[in-house]
Amino acid sequence: MQKVPLFENQPLAPLTTWKIGGPAQFLAAPQDLEEVYALMRLAYGRGWPLFFLGRGSNVLISDAGLPGLTLHLAKSLQKIERHGETLRAGAGVALPRLARAAAALGFSGFEFLAGIPGTVGAAVRLNAGAEGRNLADVLRRVWVATPRLQLMEFQAGELGLGYRSSLLLHFPHWLVAEAEFMLQTPAPTAAIEEKMRQLLAARKARFPANPRSCGSVFKNPGAGPAAGLLIDQAGFKGRRLGEAQVSRKHANFILNQGQATAAQIKGLIAEIQETIWRNEGVALEREVVFLPEDLE
Ligand SMILES: Cc1cc2nc3c(=O)[nH]c(=O)nc-3n(C[C@H](O)[C@H](O)[C@H](O)COP(=O)(O)OP(=O)(O)OC[C@H]3O[C@@H](n4cnc5c(N)ncnc54)[C@H](O)[C@@H]3O)c2cc1C
Repeated sequence: MQKVPLFENQPLAPLTTWKIGGPAQFLAAPQDLEEVYALMRLAYGRGWPLFFLGRGSNVLISDAGLPGLTLHLAKSLQKIERHGETLRAGAGVALPRLARAAAALGFSGFEFLAGIPGTVGAAVRLNAGAEGRNLADVLRRVWVATPRLQLMEFQAGELGLGYRSSLLLHFPHWLVAEAEFMLQTPAPTAAIEEKMRQLLAARKARFPANPRSCGSVFKNPGAGPAAGLLIDQAGFKGRRLGEAQVSRKHANFILNQGQATAAQIKGLIAEIQETIWRNEGVALEREVVFLPEDLE
Protein backbone atom coordinates (compact mmCIF):
# COMPACT_ATOMS: atom_id res chain seq x y z
CA MET A 1 0.00 0.00 0.00
CA GLN A 2 1.20 3.52 -0.81
CA LYS A 3 1.95 5.73 2.17
CA VAL A 4 -0.96 8.01 3.11
CA PRO A 5 0.21 11.64 2.82
CA LEU A 6 0.63 13.47 6.13
CA PHE A 7 0.34 17.25 6.15
CA GLU A 8 2.16 19.10 8.89
CA ASN A 9 0.87 22.14 10.77
CA GLN A 10 -2.44 22.25 8.86
CA PRO A 11 -5.17 24.77 9.79
CA LEU A 12 -8.24 23.03 11.17
CA ALA A 13 -10.58 26.04 11.45
CA PRO A 14 -11.69 25.77 7.78
CA LEU A 15 -12.67 22.14 8.43
CA THR A 16 -15.17 23.11 11.13
CA THR A 17 -18.53 24.87 10.88
CA TRP A 18 -17.52 27.36 13.60
CA LYS A 19 -14.35 28.22 11.59
CA ILE A 20 -12.41 28.28 14.84
CA GLY A 21 -9.32 26.52 16.14
CA GLY A 22 -5.59 26.21 15.64
CA PRO A 23 -3.68 23.79 13.40
CA ALA A 24 -3.26 20.03 13.48
CA GLN A 25 0.31 18.95 14.11
CA PHE A 26 -0.33 16.33 11.42
CA LEU A 27 -3.43 15.91 9.28
CA ALA A 28 -4.32 12.97 7.03
CA ALA A 29 -7.39 11.99 5.03
CA PRO A 30 -7.54 8.19 4.80
CA GLN A 31 -9.54 6.89 1.85
CA ASP A 32 -10.39 3.45 3.18
CA LEU A 33 -10.15 1.30 6.26
CA GLU A 34 -6.73 -0.02 5.33
CA GLU A 35 -5.42 3.55 5.35
CA VAL A 36 -7.18 4.22 8.66
CA TYR A 37 -5.34 1.25 10.18
CA ALA A 38 -2.01 2.35 8.70
CA LEU A 39 -2.45 5.80 10.25
CA MET A 40 -3.58 4.37 13.61
CA ARG A 41 -0.50 2.14 13.61
CA LEU A 42 1.71 5.14 12.85
CA ALA A 43 0.16 7.30 15.59
CA TYR A 44 0.28 4.62 18.27
CA GLY A 45 3.77 3.54 17.21
CA ARG A 46 5.07 7.08 17.68
CA GLY A 47 3.03 7.79 20.80
CA TRP A 48 1.06 10.58 19.08
CA PRO A 49 -2.41 11.56 20.28
CA LEU A 50 -5.01 10.62 17.65
CA PHE A 51 -8.13 12.64 16.80
CA PHE A 52 -11.01 12.09 14.38
CA LEU A 53 -12.76 14.88 12.55
CA GLY A 54 -15.85 14.49 10.38
CA ARG A 55 -17.48 17.65 9.03
CA GLY A 56 -16.49 19.55 12.15
CA SER A 57 -20.08 20.51 13.01
CA ASN A 58 -20.00 19.42 16.64
CA VAL A 59 -16.48 20.32 17.79
CA LEU A 60 -14.68 23.27 19.28
CA ILE A 61 -10.99 22.97 18.47
CA SER A 62 -8.71 24.80 20.88
CA ASP A 63 -6.88 27.92 19.72
CA ALA A 64 -3.60 26.02 20.16
CA GLY A 65 -4.80 23.32 17.75
CA LEU A 66 -4.36 19.58 18.11
CA PRO A 67 -1.15 17.71 18.88
CA GLY A 68 -0.37 14.44 17.13
CA LEU A 69 -2.40 13.16 14.21
CA THR A 70 -5.89 14.19 13.13
CA LEU A 71 -7.77 11.95 10.70
CA HIS A 72 -10.10 14.00 8.53
CA LEU A 73 -12.94 11.71 7.54
CA ALA A 74 -15.35 14.04 5.71
CA LYS A 75 -14.19 12.75 2.31
CA SER A 76 -13.28 9.22 3.42
CA LEU A 77 -15.31 6.02 3.66
CA GLN A 78 -17.97 7.38 1.30
CA LYS A 79 -19.70 4.13 0.33
CA ILE A 80 -23.51 3.86 0.36
CA GLU A 81 -24.79 0.40 -0.59
CA ARG A 82 -28.13 -1.29 -0.40
CA HIS A 83 -28.13 -4.85 0.96
CA GLY A 84 -31.68 -6.18 0.76
CA GLU A 85 -33.75 -4.28 3.29
CA THR A 86 -30.76 -2.42 4.71
CA LEU A 87 -28.58 0.47 3.64
CA ARG A 88 -24.89 0.53 4.59
CA ALA A 89 -23.04 3.81 4.79
CA GLY A 90 -19.38 4.58 5.42
CA ALA A 91 -18.34 6.84 8.30
CA GLY A 92 -17.69 9.85 6.09
CA VAL A 93 -21.09 9.89 4.38
CA ALA A 94 -22.89 13.18 5.03
CA LEU A 95 -26.25 12.72 6.76
CA PRO A 96 -28.22 14.73 4.15
CA ARG A 97 -26.74 12.44 1.47
CA LEU A 98 -27.89 9.38 3.43
CA ALA A 99 -31.39 10.87 3.69
CA ARG A 100 -31.46 11.54 -0.07
CA ALA A 101 -30.20 8.03 -0.85
CA ALA A 102 -32.98 6.43 1.23
CA ALA A 103 -35.53 8.73 -0.44
CA ALA A 104 -34.26 7.79 -3.91
CA LEU A 105 -34.74 4.12 -3.01
CA GLY A 106 -38.30 4.90 -1.90
CA PHE A 107 -37.86 4.59 1.88
CA SER A 108 -39.11 7.05 4.45
CA GLY A 109 -37.78 7.40 8.02
CA PHE A 110 -34.53 9.23 7.24
CA GLU A 111 -35.96 12.67 6.48
CA PHE A 112 -34.93 14.08 9.87
CA LEU A 113 -31.28 13.71 8.82
CA ALA A 114 -31.66 16.06 5.85
CA GLY A 115 -30.74 19.16 7.87
CA ILE A 116 -28.01 17.77 10.12
CA PRO A 117 -24.65 18.82 8.66
CA GLY A 118 -22.57 15.95 10.06
CA THR A 119 -21.23 12.55 9.05
CA VAL A 120 -22.59 9.08 9.75
CA GLY A 121 -19.62 8.15 11.99
CA ALA A 122 -19.97 11.08 14.36
CA ALA A 123 -23.77 10.87 14.31
CA VAL A 124 -23.78 7.25 15.49
CA ARG A 125 -21.49 8.16 18.38
CA LEU A 126 -23.91 10.82 19.62
CA ASN A 127 -27.18 9.30 18.38
CA ALA A 128 -27.84 12.49 16.44
CA GLY A 129 -31.44 13.44 15.96
CA ALA A 130 -34.00 16.06 15.09
CA GLU A 131 -37.75 16.52 14.87
CA GLY A 132 -38.35 13.96 17.63
CA ARG A 133 -36.42 11.20 15.86
CA ASN A 134 -32.88 9.98 16.20
CA LEU A 135 -30.46 7.59 14.59
CA ALA A 136 -31.46 4.76 16.92
CA ASP A 137 -34.84 4.66 15.11
CA VAL A 138 -33.20 3.45 11.90
CA LEU A 139 -29.82 2.02 12.95
CA ARG A 140 -29.26 -1.74 12.81
CA ARG A 141 -25.51 -2.40 13.22
CA VAL A 142 -22.19 -0.60 13.25
CA TRP A 143 -18.59 -1.56 12.64
CA VAL A 144 -15.97 0.11 14.80
CA ALA A 145 -12.18 0.18 14.28
CA THR A 146 -10.41 -0.03 17.63
CA PRO A 147 -6.90 1.04 18.63
CA ARG A 148 -6.00 -2.67 18.62
CA LEU A 149 -6.67 -2.52 14.87
CA GLN A 150 -9.68 -4.80 15.12
CA LEU A 151 -13.02 -4.25 13.41
CA MET A 152 -15.74 -4.89 15.98
CA GLU A 153 -19.38 -5.33 15.04
CA PHE A 154 -22.17 -4.12 17.32
CA GLN A 155 -25.93 -4.44 17.04
CA ALA A 156 -27.64 -1.09 17.63
CA GLY A 157 -29.15 -2.51 20.83
CA GLU A 158 -25.67 -3.03 22.27
CA LEU A 159 -24.68 0.63 21.91
CA GLY A 160 -26.77 2.07 24.75
CA LEU A 161 -28.20 4.71 22.42
CA GLY A 162 -30.01 7.45 24.32
CA TYR A 163 -30.69 11.16 23.93
CA ARG A 164 -27.46 12.46 22.33
CA SER A 165 -25.50 9.66 23.93
CA SER A 166 -24.15 6.18 23.42
CA LEU A 167 -21.62 3.88 25.02
CA LEU A 168 -19.23 4.91 22.23
CA LEU A 169 -18.75 8.25 24.02
CA HIS A 170 -16.74 6.27 26.59
CA PHE A 171 -14.39 5.03 23.86
CA PRO A 172 -13.19 8.18 22.07
CA HIS A 173 -10.38 6.26 20.33
CA TRP A 174 -12.78 3.91 18.58
CA LEU A 175 -13.50 4.97 15.03
CA VAL A 176 -17.00 4.27 13.73
CA ALA A 177 -16.18 2.93 10.26
CA GLU A 178 -19.54 1.91 8.85
CA ALA A 179 -23.19 1.76 9.85
CA GLU A 180 -26.13 -0.27 8.63
CA PHE A 181 -29.62 1.21 8.56
CA MET A 182 -33.03 -0.42 8.22
CA LEU A 183 -35.15 0.36 5.19
CA GLN A 184 -38.52 -0.28 6.78
CA THR A 185 -41.09 2.24 5.54
CA PRO A 186 -41.69 2.30 1.77
CA ALA A 187 -43.07 5.59 0.43
CA PRO A 188 -43.10 7.47 -2.88
CA THR A 189 -39.80 9.31 -3.43
CA ALA A 190 -41.56 12.56 -4.36
CA ALA A 191 -43.52 12.55 -1.07
CA ILE A 192 -40.36 11.92 0.97
CA GLU A 193 -38.53 14.70 -0.85
CA GLU A 194 -41.41 17.08 -0.20
CA LYS A 195 -41.30 16.21 3.52
CA MET A 196 -37.54 16.91 3.56
CA ARG A 197 -38.11 20.28 1.89
CA GLN A 198 -40.67 21.16 4.56
CA LEU A 199 -38.37 20.07 7.39
CA LEU A 200 -35.51 22.12 5.95
CA ALA A 201 -37.74 25.18 5.60
CA ALA A 202 -38.90 24.81 9.22
CA ARG A 203 -35.28 24.54 10.41
CA LYS A 204 -34.30 27.59 8.39
CA ALA A 205 -37.05 29.58 10.09
CA ARG A 206 -35.98 28.42 13.59
CA PHE A 207 -32.20 28.59 13.32
CA PRO A 208 -29.84 31.57 12.88
CA ALA A 209 -28.79 32.48 9.34
CA ASN A 210 -25.08 32.65 10.27
CA PRO A 211 -23.74 29.15 9.45
CA ARG A 212 -20.74 29.61 11.77
CA SER A 213 -22.05 27.65 14.74
CA CYS A 214 -22.06 24.10 16.04
CA GLY A 215 -25.84 23.81 16.21
CA SER A 216 -27.04 23.32 19.78
CA VAL A 217 -24.22 23.91 22.24
CA PHE A 218 -26.01 22.20 25.14
CA LYS A 219 -28.14 19.08 25.47
CA ASN A 220 -31.67 19.62 26.71
CA PRO A 221 -32.01 18.74 30.42
CA GLY A 222 -33.83 15.46 31.16
CA ALA A 223 -36.85 17.32 32.54
CA GLY A 224 -38.18 20.87 32.47
CA PRO A 225 -37.61 23.61 29.90
CA ALA A 226 -35.29 23.12 26.93
CA ALA A 227 -31.73 24.46 27.21
CA GLY A 228 -32.47 27.27 24.72
CA LEU A 229 -35.41 28.49 26.78
CA LEU A 230 -33.40 28.46 30.04
CA ILE A 231 -30.60 30.44 28.37
CA ASP A 232 -33.10 32.88 26.85
CA GLN A 233 -34.86 33.37 30.21
CA ALA A 234 -31.50 34.10 31.85
CA GLY A 235 -31.11 37.02 29.42
CA PHE A 236 -28.25 35.67 27.32
CA LYS A 237 -29.68 36.29 23.85
CA GLY A 238 -27.27 38.59 22.03
CA ARG A 239 -24.59 38.34 24.79
CA ARG A 240 -21.09 38.77 23.31
CA LEU A 241 -17.62 37.87 24.35
CA GLY A 242 -15.30 39.28 21.70
CA GLU A 243 -16.73 38.02 18.42
CA ALA A 244 -18.56 35.08 19.97
CA GLN A 245 -22.25 35.82 20.44
CA VAL A 246 -25.30 33.97 21.74
CA SER A 247 -27.78 33.96 18.86
CA ARG A 248 -30.70 36.37 19.20
CA LYS A 249 -32.87 33.89 17.32
CA HIS A 250 -32.08 30.63 19.17
CA ALA A 251 -30.30 30.95 22.51
CA ASN A 252 -28.76 27.46 22.36
CA PHE A 253 -26.63 28.58 19.39
CA ILE A 254 -23.37 30.50 19.85
CA LEU A 255 -22.22 32.23 16.68
CA ASN A 256 -18.82 33.18 15.38
CA GLN A 257 -19.52 36.74 14.23
CA GLY A 258 -16.07 37.25 12.70
CA GLN A 259 -12.79 36.13 14.20
CA ALA A 260 -14.09 34.56 17.42
CA THR A 261 -11.62 32.39 19.31
CA ALA A 262 -12.18 29.09 21.07
CA ALA A 263 -11.34 30.86 24.34
CA GLN A 264 -14.19 33.33 23.76
CA ILE A 265 -16.69 30.55 22.98
CA LYS A 266 -15.57 28.66 26.09
CA GLY A 267 -15.93 31.83 28.15
CA LEU A 268 -19.55 32.25 27.05
CA ILE A 269 -20.28 28.56 27.65
CA ALA A 270 -18.86 28.74 31.19
CA GLU A 271 -20.84 31.90 31.96
CA ILE A 272 -24.08 30.31 30.75
CA GLN A 273 -23.47 27.11 32.72
CA GLU A 274 -22.68 29.01 35.92
CA THR A 275 -25.71 31.27 35.62
CA ILE A 276 -28.19 28.47 34.85
CA TRP A 277 -26.79 26.41 37.70
CA ARG A 278 -27.07 29.32 40.14
CA ASN A 279 -30.54 30.46 38.99
CA GLU A 280 -32.22 27.16 38.17
CA GLY A 281 -30.15 24.46 39.84
CA VAL A 282 -29.76 22.86 36.40
CA ALA A 283 -26.35 21.63 35.22
CA LEU A 284 -26.38 22.17 31.46
CA GLU A 285 -24.34 19.47 29.76
CA ARG A 286 -22.42 20.34 26.62
CA GLU A 287 -23.35 18.59 23.38
CA VAL A 288 -20.37 20.09 21.57
CA VAL A 289 -17.02 18.32 21.99
CA PHE A 290 -13.95 20.30 23.08
CA LEU A 291 -10.82 19.05 21.33
CA PRO A 292 -8.34 18.12 22.65
CA GLU A 293 -9.64 18.59 26.22
CA ASP A 294 -12.54 16.11 26.12
CA LEU A 295 -10.25 13.38 24.83
CA GLU A 296 -7.43 13.87 27.33
C1 LIG B 1 -26.25 24.33 11.94
C2 LIG B 1 -26.13 23.02 12.69
C3 LIG B 1 -27.28 22.29 12.98
C4 LIG B 1 -27.19 21.08 13.67
N1 LIG B 1 -28.33 20.39 13.93
C5 LIG B 1 -28.26 19.21 14.57
C6 LIG B 1 -29.45 18.46 14.83
O1 LIG B 1 -30.55 18.84 14.45
N2 LIG B 1 -29.32 17.29 15.50
C7 LIG B 1 -28.11 16.82 15.93
O2 LIG B 1 -28.07 15.73 16.52
N3 LIG B 1 -26.97 17.51 15.69
C8 LIG B 1 -27.02 18.69 15.03
N4 LIG B 1 -25.87 19.39 14.79
C9 LIG B 1 -24.58 18.90 15.33
C10 LIG B 1 -23.78 18.00 14.38
O3 LIG B 1 -24.11 18.22 13.03
C11 LIG B 1 -23.96 16.52 14.73
O4 LIG B 1 -23.55 16.26 16.06
C12 LIG B 1 -23.14 15.63 13.78
O5 LIG B 1 -23.43 14.28 14.04
C13 LIG B 1 -21.63 15.85 13.92
O6 LIG B 1 -21.01 15.27 12.80
P1 LIG B 1 -19.58 15.75 12.29
O7 LIG B 1 -19.15 14.83 11.21
O8 LIG B 1 -19.60 17.17 11.95
O9 LIG B 1 -18.72 15.50 13.60
P2 LIG B 1 -17.44 16.31 14.09
O10 LIG B 1 -17.87 17.63 14.62
O11 LIG B 1 -16.38 16.30 13.06
O12 LIG B 1 -17.00 15.39 15.31
C14 LIG B 1 -17.81 15.29 16.46
C15 LIG B 1 -17.19 14.24 17.40
O13 LIG B 1 -17.27 12.96 16.79
C16 LIG B 1 -15.96 12.38 16.66
N5 LIG B 1 -15.95 11.65 15.40
C17 LIG B 1 -16.03 12.15 14.14
N6 LIG B 1 -16.06 11.14 13.25
C18 LIG B 1 -15.99 9.99 13.97
C19 LIG B 1 -15.99 8.61 13.62
N7 LIG B 1 -16.07 8.18 12.36
N8 LIG B 1 -15.90 7.70 14.62
C20 LIG B 1 -15.82 8.09 15.91
N9 LIG B 1 -15.82 9.38 16.30
C21 LIG B 1 -15.91 10.31 15.33
C22 LIG B 1 -15.01 13.56 16.70
O14 LIG B 1 -13.75 13.16 17.17
C23 LIG B 1 -15.71 14.48 17.67
O15 LIG B 1 -15.43 14.08 18.99
C24 LIG B 1 -25.92 20.60 14.09
C25 LIG B 1 -24.77 21.34 13.79
C26 LIG B 1 -24.87 22.53 13.09
C27 LIG B 1 -23.61 23.30 12.75
